[in-house]
Formats: sequence, structure tokens, C-alpha cells
Amino acid sequence: MMVIINGRVVGPHSVLEHHCVVIEDGRIKQIAPTAQVLWPEDAQVIDAHDGFVAPGFVDMHVHGAMGRDTMEGTVEAMAQIAKFHATGGTTAMTPTTTTHSREKINSALQAIADAMGHDFGGAQIVGAHVEGPYISRERSGAQPAQFIRDPISSEYEPWLDRGGLVTQMTLAPELPGALELIDALLEREILPSGGHTAANSEQACAAIERGLCHATHLFNCMSSTVKSGPFRLPGALETFLADERVMVELIADGKHVHPELMRLAVRAKGIDKVCLITDATAGAGLAEGAEFLVGETRAVVVAGVGMVVDGSALAGSVSTMIQMVRNMIELVGLSLADAVRLASLNPARALGISGRKGSLEPRKDADIVVFSGSFAVLKTVIGGRLEYEAPAA
Ligand SMILES: [Zn+2]
Repeated sequence: MMVIINGRVVGPHSVLEHHCVVIEDGRIKQIAPTAQVLWPEDAQVIDAHDGFVAPGFVDMHVHGAMGRDTMEGTVEAMAQIAKFHATGGTTAMTPTTTTHSREKINSALQAIADAMGHDFGGAQIVGAHVEGPYISRERSGAQPAQFIRDPISSEYEPWLDRGGLVTQMTLAPELPGALELIDALLEREILPSGGHTAANSEQACAAIERGLCHATHLFNCMSSTVKSGPFRLPGALETFLADERVMVELIADGKHVHPELMRLAVRAKGIDKVCLITDATAGAGLAEGAEFLVGETRAVVVAGVGMVVDGSALAGSVSTMIQMVRNMIELVGLSLADAVRLASLNPARALGISGRKGSLEPRKDADIVVFSGSFAVLKTVIGGRLEYEAPAA
């Protein structure tokens, strides 16, 4: 048994002061005022010292950390990435592939499959997010354009048929065959996500009618309003913002998206339909000025963000989830409970795992982050085990 005492327990809508969380067999057993709970002498007691005790963060879009990238296609790389992100409060993640050859994506997916269910003392790997290769050449961002192609069913079906492995796919809905791909994803309960797209509003609407229900890194790498004669028409961005059926991802590092736009996303979508993501690259955890690779593209850590070396494009974030939560509070003005919800319950719902993850409730997995009032992660508990502890100050 584990007991986390003296915490400010973050619920879906409010913070419960001086509460404790009782954990048994990897799951939450009870949440109650600390003074009301008795625990056996051999229980592992963690003192939160008045810090926040929150549901662990679920990162549904993350490419790497510490110089390691999902596309290396090794379990060891996955383990390093998962370990690093646990230091930022992430307890579950879906390593994300990038646009590449069939063979390269195959080997990355194999490594993710091999890493699932393993305990390497880091965030749990709960699936794979396949980002590309079926995306727009015009909106490729840092994705390598030479590997971009239209959807090929004989290529993607084997990926999608590996039950439980692929949990999300980012695609450009305007490509020939994209609507059939959306059908194939929905048949297998995989999240179809629109992104890296140059779709006009009609194409984006057609995809939503077909079941597209998620948008990949809203604002980044997607079409926006265009003028047609005297008329102003929406792009994919505004269509995703306006349609209530669509949940959105937000890279809340304060660099990819201006804080005012982050506020706009929350106001337009509501507090239930925004998922914070890191979209972290191999640059996460590296020092300012360090170089790293995004696929074959050289990038560098500049002013707390990944940048292609020629400065022409952002190359993913170098942030962790706790920084995103902090930004939503300090830059956007959300309450702490709401900011945490965007990082935990919402992505868990999007991935269909909110029955066991995403909030602190009895019977759910004991995936918990303890952080201080200044947003320093103090402890990360995953499946009832203390997997990360900040070094003593
Ligand atoms: Zn992307």
C-alpha cells in the first residue's frame, strides 16, 4: 500500500486541500482528508508537503527526448524517452512516428509494440501515434517532404491491424483516399486526426462528416482563412475550431502558438475539447544550443524551442507536460484544475482510456504527479510505483 499525504488533490473541477490518496495494487483506493485516513505501518508514505497531487499527464503526441527519437526504432530509445518525460509528470504516452519510408515506420511501430507493457521506470507506453506519411506537401512543417505520399491501403492496413498498437493517425483529409482511410481507422477504433493539412473548408467538413474527430497540433501546419474574390473563406483551422465534434491538440509551449491563440482555442472548443501535447523532439532535455536530428533534418535548441538549423521552421518543442500546464495557467489564465484536465482527462478521453486513466478516482490506475506551487515535479507515480523523484534541493 502507498499513501500520499498532505497534498492538495487536484480533482476534475476543484482542488481538495489537505487530502491524501491511498493506493493499493497499482490503483487508487481512496481519496479523503488526511486526518480521516489510517494506514498500516508498512505502507509506503509519501509526503506531498502541501504540493499538488494531480492525475499523471497523458501525452498523445511526443517524438523524443534526450537526443533520442521514436524513429530510431529501438526499445532502448523508447525507454529513454519514456523515462525523461516521467520527469515532467507524464505517466502515459503514445510515441509518435514521423513521415518516412514504409520500412522505417514498420520498425518504429515494432519497437513501440515491443516497449508496450514494459516497465522501464518511465511513462507507460499505451499506443502509437502515426503522424504521416499521408499528409500535405504544402504543410509538411519539419516532416521530410520526400516521403510524403497519398494513402495506400496495402501499406496502412498492416499497421492498423496490429490490434491495440496504433491509437491515432494524423492525416491530411484532402488527399485522395483519405476518407477511406478515416473509415479504416474508425472501424478499428483508432483516432483519426486531421493535421499537416492544406484542406479547404469543404474538404475538412467532408472529413468531419465521415468521422474525423480530432485535430493535430491546432494552428501549426494547417490551412487558415483565404480570400476568394470579395469573400473570406475558412481553412482547416477555422473548421476544426468551429465544429463541436472535433477535439484539438495544442502545443502549449508558448512558442508554437501565441498565448492569445491558446486562449482562443480554449474559448472556442471549451474546457473538455483541448488536449495539451508536447510534440517534443529529441531536443527535449538537451541544453540550449545543442543540435539534434528530426528525422534527417538538423535542428537546434534555441530559446527553449526546437528550430531547423537554418531558422526556417520550428522543429517541435523541447518541453515537458508540466511546462504546458504552467503556461495554460500563467499565460492563458486557466485555473489549475482546468489546466490539469487539459493534460490528463481530455487526452485520456480522446484515446479511449479514461475508464482507467486521466483523473484521480477510486479504481483508476494510480498514475499521479506531485508538483510544487512553482511547478517543479517532485514525484511521479506510475501504476502505484514511485518512478521518479526529484533530487533533493
Ligand atoms: Zn506535426
